[in-house]
Amino acid sequence: MLKKILILDLILLLMLGLVGVLYKIGVITFDKAEAPEPIAEEEVTVDEEETLNLPPEVDETEWSLILANPWNEIPEGYFEDVDIVSTEDGWEVDSRIKEPLEKMMADCREAGYNPQIISAFRTRGFQQSLYDSTANKNDTAYPGTSEHELGLALDIIDAASAGWGDPLVKEQEDTEAQKWLMDNCQNYGFILRYPADKEDITGIIYEPWHYRYVGEEHAKKITESGQCLEEYLGRIENDKEKIGSE
Ligand SMILES: [Zn+2]
Repeated sequence: MLKKILILDLILLLMLGLVGVLYKIGVITFDKAEAPEPIAEEEVTVDEEETLNLPPEVDETEWSLILANPWNEIPEGYFEDVDIVSTEDGWEVDSRIKEPLEKMMADCREAGYNPQIISAFRTRGFQQSLYDSTANKNDTAYPGTSEHELGLALDIIDAASAGWGDPLVKEQEDTEAQKWLMDNCQNYGFILRYPADKEDITGIIYEPWHYRYVGEEHAKKITESGQCLEEYLGRIENDKEKIGSE
């Protein structure tokens, strides 16, 4: 009995050996499952910094999102496609923001307040003369870096503050017109461009009077997120040595 089992085992081993040899010399084959292609590491690694810096839904080439700040000058030739027109108040702005601006001003007045534009589009030459005549150079944006040169920014005060020695002060935020504008500007496509807690990112001091048009959709997203434009665009610079005014 034991001998029979041993012989059977021996036969089995010989058969297995034969199969092995036939497989090796290619007489018989086994179907092999297709092994997945190894994925190169860089293909699966998400560049975290890039993801943080530029939300995919933001197309920063949109005209209303152009960035002008101490680190980003207005590109050469920018004005070839820009049409500057007069508002009903007699201020010059990019033609594309005339309507939403006038609507915002009208609605603010209708709500019972008295907003007053005191600065709008500035030519490069005018910005240059402002800069040249300012004793403290941090009080005026360097020519070519002011949003006012885009025609997309306005300084708006409460008319009641017009008699202050200087209406462009922090207390502007407590005026009635300003409170309404801060609460509602995003519905017209504007943002308060230089918030109090973003000075080191915008490079500009808190300005509760400077409004910038970015379009309604972006204005709402920026306001809801609590970001400033630089954060929204993922364009945060590291050089924070100079914080000034517009
Ligand atoms: Zn301004």
